[in-house]
Amino acid sequence: MSQVGRQGHASPAKGAHVRVALVGVTVVGRQHAAHLADALGGRVVEGSSARVAVADAWPLADALVLCMATGAAIRLIAPHLADKGVDPAVVAIDDGARFAVALTGGHHGANDLARRVAVALGAQPVVTTASDVLGLPALDHLGAAFGLRLDPDLADTAAVGAALIAGNPVQLVRDRPWPVGPLPATVTTDPTDGPLIMVSDRLVDPRRPAVVYRPPSLVVGVGASRGAPAAEIGALVNEALRRGGLSPHSVHHLATVEAKAREPGLRDVAEARGWPLVSHLPSVLAAIEVPNPSPIVTAAVGTPSVAEAAALAEGGELLVPKRTLPGTNPATATVAVARRPVRGRLALISTGPGDAELIPSLAREALTAADLVVGLDQYVNRVRAFLHPGTTVLASPIGEEVARADQAVAAARAGRSVALVSGGDVGVYGMASPALERAGADVDVVVVPGITAATAAAALLGSPLGHDHCAISLSDLLTPWSVIRRRVQAAAEGDFVVSLYNPRSRDRHWQLGEALATLAEHRPPNTPVGVVTDAFRPSQRVTMATVAAFDAATVGMLSIVLVGNTQTRVIGGRMVTPRGYR
Ligand code: SAH
Repeated sequence: MSQVGRQGHASPAKGAHVRVALVGVTVVGRQHAAHLADALGGRVVEGSSARVAVADAWPLADALVLCMATGAAIRLIAPHLADKGVDPAVVAIDDGARFAVALTGGHHGANDLARRVAVALGAQPVVTTASDVLGLPALDHLGAAFGLRLDPDLADTAAVGAALIAGNPVQLVRDRPWPVGPLPATVTTDPTDGPLIMVSDRLVDPRRPAVVYRPPSLVVGVGASRGAPAAEIGALVNEALRRGGLSPHSVHHLATVEAKAREPGLRDVAEARGWPLVSHLPSVLAAIEVPNPSPIVTAAVGTPSVAEAAALAEGGELLVPKRTLPGTNPATATVAVARRPVRGRLALISTGPGDAELIPSLAREALTAADLVVGLDQYVNRVRAFLHPGTTVLASPIGEEVARADQAVAAARAGRSVALVSGGDVGVYGMASPALERAGADVDVVVVPGITAATAAAALLGSPLGHDHCAISLSDLLTPWSVIRRRVQAAAEGDFVVSLYNPRSRDRHWQLGEALATLAEHRPPNTPVGVVTDAFRPSQRVTMATVAAFDAATVGMLSIVLVGNTQTRVIGGRMVTPRGYR
């Protein structure tokens, strides 16, 4: 639920905005409410009766958790229900704390809240919205991860949703390949006479039923003379958008030159519309080629164009050249509108060491929003359960890292929402570096961190990384052995705990022995060495030895070797590097 929508209802006289309000009726119901208030960071609302408590909480809360039978909850909220766009999400729980029922506002937070409440109570979440049950996208939030917004005036969500649920053909129409996320196979770009899902920044009059999404694609460049009134700037912006046949819902930001960043009229317009105001240095604007440069403007602010150059500062195409408000002479403001280039989304996803429980929630979220998943087959298989219907999967065998990075970046650049998956942490000997070496500023990138082999193995061994440590890969495939040797030597002299990645492979045997010999020269003979193979996988093996008596035969391709520093000890069978507390 949007903050803004709720704040519209909030009455300051009655109290401050509340995220989650909880109401209990019986003694146990109140206990559950108090527990959930702590667990969810919410507030228990008391009143002379539950009816009064609900009435008080309704206008102030994003969400309500009612600890009572669903029948009672429905009767209490019925008089207040207005519109799903502004009503708080409502979840009811039974006094036995067995079920958390998403009652209303399923796609405005109630489904998620029911799941969180269920976790906090050890209860079962009950979610009945059809799209969630069928794994279909919620039309209210389609493409929200990529900034798409449903146009409230063109939102036949019930009719289009019904077609999706029935499995009837729905036609997707996009002016540009803006990312949407995965869509069911019944959504087609071929012409049909079925309902429409349209993504457009233009003013359109589609056949109905239709849902129209507005991509954050337009930049409105504005120049203003000192003291230009907000009303005039606002009228000019409206006029320019209308002239261009463009929707104000697609405006991503207003842009101007630095000297105008604090111009009150401009700031007022930006604030009133909820558009960020971005300012650029005159030297940046001066370098942008525009159709209508002006020497007068150069003399005033040091760039031949403000409105057109600022609109084009992110690249893209000029849709509405510089305009002034008809009937204002001299003009107080100039406006131009540009369309930003399509921005794809590349999510670089960590899947952890192996156990599905160690895949971060953020990774799960990013995967459900992806329409293309790229990765090594074993990692892709690890995440298949999280993909929504309609997601394309490109799995490739080991050794094709460059091809994978190229594929993922190219698809993101073409406007898709791509997830590139790696084992462990995507940024540790993973796919993040090759992908980011190829991705330019034209691709939106999200990196989801995860649990790397070193910390996973450390957890199984005890606490070997409790003090300064470093990671070294012994693979000399891409790094000359002379470089690796120098780093091992430095780690030995620096008394770092060392995690050795890629310690051994089918044709690489002697490197591990040499590395351990170097480390042994700077460590007592009984310094512990932990070897973990297949951490957090069914075939997991954990062994411990010492630097003096180390058998490299215990180490395989899927092992990691953790060598202690001079302080590391075995305590109670666990490998511990002390932090130095007495
Ligand atoms: N991005 C990965 C590392 C890839 S390099 C990560 O952050 O963990 C591959 C090396 O990582 C393997 O040779 C092995 O040394 C180590 N490794 C990866 N997963 C492992 C696991 N589950 N158990 C033990 N070692 C692992």
